[in-house]
Amino acid sequence: MSPRPLSVRARLTLWHAGVLTLIVCAFSAGILIFVRASLLEGVDRQLRRALATVDWVYHHEPEEIGDLPAESGIALFQLIADRNLPYHTEGWELAGLSRALPSRGAMPPTSWASPDGRWYRVQAVAEPSYTIAAAIEESARRDSFWALATILAMGTPFAVGLAIAGGYFLAGRVLSPVGAMADKAREITADSLGERLPVGNPQDEFGRLATVFNDTLSRLHDSFDRLRRFTSDASHELRTPLTAMRSVGEIALQAPLDSGRYREVIGSMLEEVDRLTRLVESLLLLTRADSSSTPPAREVVELAALAGNVAEHLRVLAEERQQSLSVHSAERVEAVCDPDILRLGLMNLLHNAIKYTPSGGAIRVRAKATASGESSIEVEDTGPGIPAAHRERIFERFYRADPGRPRESGGAGLGLAIARWAVASNGGRIELESEESKGSLFRIVLPALPKEG
Ligand code: ADP
Repeated sequence: MSPRPLSVRARLTLWHAGVLTLIVCAFSAGILIFVRASLLEGVDRQLRRALATVDWVYHHEPEEIGDLPAESGIALFQLIADRNLPYHTEGWELAGLSRALPSRGAMPPTSWASPDGRWYRVQAVAEPSYTIAAAIEESARRDSFWALATILAMGTPFAVGLAIAGGYFLAGRVLSPVGAMADKAREITADSLGERLPVGNPQDEFGRLATVFNDTLSRLHDSFDRLRRFTSDASHELRTPLTAMRSVGEIALQAPLDSGRYREVIGSMLEEVDRLTRLVESLLLLTRADSSSTPPAREVVELAALAGNVAEHLRVLAEERQQSLSVHSAERVEAVCDPDILRLGLMNLLHNAIKYTPSGGAIRVRAKATASGESSIEVEDTGPGIPAAHRERIFERFYRADPGRPRESGGAGLGLAIARWAVASNGGRIELESEESKGSLFRIVLPALPKEG
């Protein structure tokens, strides 16, 4: 079993403590090296001065040499000259410092421990006819150095311990917004998508994360709301024909009827079934459009031909209502689009025009290029027009400009939503011009053809 990965807080603390330990160790080592070097430097300087003094006295006032310890405090030295007996101070003798020297010649400054445990710094200079050696006791300096080393060695674990505790506390404080966000996020369910994560400081990293997450929540909330509205509107629309069928059936069952009446009842039920079928087909189409990831086909389509074809398909409906339906196209207008999807969109617009224009009205379909070089198909009718208050919203799903209108003449409010999707999925848009009680003009505008070459 692999070990459980450490928490971010623990990892931050360990990194922080590790780096701090390294820094403290390097710093302590640096201090010790520096202190030792400057202590030795001080002793060596004193040694050099002592040797120079003994040398001077030996040359200029040799008889005074015995007074040196008392007069100048140079207590530990020895002088070995060819013409005299070797001379050494009492202290030199007592400390047995001769054993620190080589049998002959010079010796650089060297630390030496006497058998009784004291430390001396000893140096000898050799001239052809004499050798002078001097020593300075350095036990006190050494003790100070080791006391400092001990303090640093004992202080380091203490500092590291403090670093771990402080680091753990600080990491906890810095990471606390994450904990608060996690707690809040855990509480958010599909029913409480309106809630948001706390944003401490929107400028810092956690604040930005919470803001981005909150934006995602807002979008999810909107989608959920739309889905909920869609489901409830769809259920409502499905219930109406079902209720109608049920009441027609119940009335028919109340008393025996003649066969003509039964045919009427069945006919009216079939009408409702037709309505239901159309509604379910529209719902399916919109649901597929929402979830489909396959891009529409890209073909060069001649728009006047397509418009003529759709008009022929629906002409019989217009004739039933004694409406004149004409298709105009002065020029050849082409667009790159999916002809099946575009046809569906145009069919819905034209169907609406026929549906909402009173008997005897006129409907004109025109394919033409716009001034900006785009391609368009216009569907114009002489119907009631669409009041300005509704123009923005009629493309929404289930939206009807006049909900009081009899069910037979209106639809479920999905036709324009399908038309808008059909045109938008081909990269185009639908424009609407309408004047109340004078008619409406729906214009499908498709992007200009890509330039050749
Ligand atoms: P419906 O199924 O109700 O026709 P649509 O989405 O096709 O739904 O249209 C939405 C609303 O826009 C309709 O209820 C109607 O009030 C209005 N509308 C659409 N086309 C026209 C038109 N050509 N003339 C007048 N009103 C229209």
